[in-house]
Amino acid sequence: MNPEYSEKQRMAPPPYSSSEQPPGPPPGFYPPPPGPVPVQTTTVYPATVAVVTTNVAAMGSQPSHTFCKSCHQDITTVIRHKATTKTHLFALLLCIIGCWPCAWIPYCVDSCHNVDHYCPHCNAYLGSYLN
Ligand SMILES: [Zn+2]
Repeated sequence: MNPEYSEKQRMAPPPYSSSEQPPGPPPGFYPPPPGPVPVQTTTVYPATVAVVTTNVAAMGSQPSHTFCKSCHQDITTVIRHKATTKTHLFALLLCIIGCWPCAWIPYCVDSCHNVDHYCPHCNAYLGSYLN
C-alpha cells in the first residue's frame, strides 16, 4: 500500500451527489399564501333616476281660467281638439266591422279627441286634456 495515495484519498472532497437535494416544489412554483383568498369586489352604483318636470298641466275638457307662465297674465285658455291614435283606431274598427260609412264619426265626437289648451294672448301651449 502506498501511504501517500491513501493520504490524497483522505484529503479529497466527498464525491458530489446531485440526488441529495431536499424535497420541495419545482423551480418556478409559488405556493398560494396562507389565509383567505382576497375576493375582487366591484362597486355597484345606484341607478340615477331622472326626474323630469314639465310646465304643462293637466286640464279639463273646457276652457279654464289659469295663469300663463309665458306672458304672466291671468287668462282663460283657448281649446283646440286634436285627433289621437284612439280616434284613428275607432275609425279603423268601424271600417273593419263593415260600418265604413260611419268611419267619420270618431273625428266629430269630442270625447274621441284630446283637448289642447293655449293662451289667447301669446298662443303658448299650456296643457292638455287627455281622453
Ligand atoms: Zn300667455
